[in-house]
Amino acid sequence: MQTDTSVLTAPEPDMSWQENALCAQAGPEFFFPAPGSSTREAKQLCGACEGRVACLEYALAHDERFGVWGGLSEKERFRLKRNRG
Ligand code: SF4
Repeated sequence: MQTDTSVLTAPEPDMSWQENALCAQAGPEFFFPAPGSSTREAKQLCGACEGRVACLEYALAHDERFGVWGGLSEKERFRLKRNRG
């Protein structure tokens, strides 16, 4: 007997925002700075990125713990998530 696993598979998330991700042109140290380092430059780049909102929602949905995503640091994403309830 074959099992239909299609109903058990979660839909693939839309990752098209990555195609225009400005961070792809910057080094990873920008977005994953050493503890205590500034995230200002990464956030500035995010501010000009077309995919910022989708990137942030992806990070929140996937509980990304490290680095700057969608213009927010780890702490800022944690606070946003907590405030959303
Ligand atoms: S919002 Fe920032 S982290 Fe997200 S894809 Fe754009 S540049 Fe990269």
